[in-house]
Amino acid sequence: MKRLLTCILLILCIMMIDGCCLKHDWQEATCDKPMTCKICGETQGEPLGHEWLDATCTLAKTCSVCGATEGEPLGHDWMAATCEHPKTCRVCGATEGGNADHDWIEATCLHPRKCSVCGITEGGTLPHTWVRANYDSSKYCSVCGVVEGDSLIPAFEKRKYEFTLKKGTTWDYTTIANADNSNVTGKATVIDTRNYYSDGAHAGRDGYEWREATVEFKMPTGCKVMLGYTDKYTGMEEYAVTNYITYSDGTRMPVVATESYKYDWEDDVCVSYGTLSVQVPEDYEDLVFYVSSADYALTGRVDPNIRFMEMK
Ligand SMILES: [Zn+2]
Ligand SMILES: [Zn+2]
Ligand SMILES: [Zn+2]
Ligand SMILES: [Zn+2]
Ligand SMILES: [Zn+2]
Repeated sequence: MKRLLTCILLILCIMMIDGCCLKHDWQEATCDKPMTCKICGETQGEPLGHEWLDATCTLAKTCSVCGATEGEPLGHDWMAATCEHPKTCRVCGATEGGNADHDWIEATCLHPRKCSVCGITEGGTLPHTWVRANYDSSKYCSVCGVVEGDSLIPAFEKRKYEFTLKKGTTWDYTTIANADNSNVTGKATVIDTRNYYSDGAHAGRDGYEWREATVEFKMPTGCKVMLGYTDKYTGMEEYAVTNYITYSDGTRMPVVATESYKYDWEDDVCVSYGTLSVQVPEDYEDLVFYVSSADYALTGRVDPNIRFMEMK
């Protein structure tokens, strides 16, 4: 019997040592540990599990309860700096550094120098980039397309190309003063026209005739007047004073011409006489005589006062 009691006592002791307390002292469960007895270490239930907060730009995925982390922060999603804001995170709005410079678009005739981002402008617009008029199109700006004036063909026609050279024809003529390049207006008059085979100063040639005109200019001062001849328009070449004639099939032929001038003063009026003689085939129909300012003719510009007359 005594042996039996000893044995029971021993078993009880072993059970005590083994953790079977009479009253457990529980510690609450945590994220990763179940509820556990502080005395015997017995557990009950499951760990609570972490309360994860999503990772952010600067923080890894984190437990809101115990602070445990997992993985890496996401990192910022940067937008480049502009003139309006510094380098900025699309997600959290964090910034780094200062604003960038303006993104300038250079000035044109349409707009001043301006920033493509914020629209701020600097200075004024540029002049147009003109492309010269030709026979088919007017002078225009290659940047904005604005058009100015006529093409040369209508201009040519509008300048009374249809006139026929006739003795007695008179018109107001504006040209450029010798002295100061100012515009001066006076009268131009065709005082003589002549067709002939030859004379003392002009040799004859078979099948050709000389066509001649003398124009008198009465101007308030000495002027840069000029007589010349050209042919009808036949192609895309720049409109210019020519020293050849063109047939309707496009063939061109140089011709011989002479010019002479004399001038005198009559009561403060400068009177000058210009004579132009051109030798062309007798049957040639398209000779055009013109009166223009020498200044324009020499610079290749079109004299706005040029006058064309058919020289039959
Ligand atoms: Zn216990
Ligand atoms: Zn936790
Ligand atoms: Zn961020
Ligand atoms: Zn800007
Ligand atoms: Zn323009």
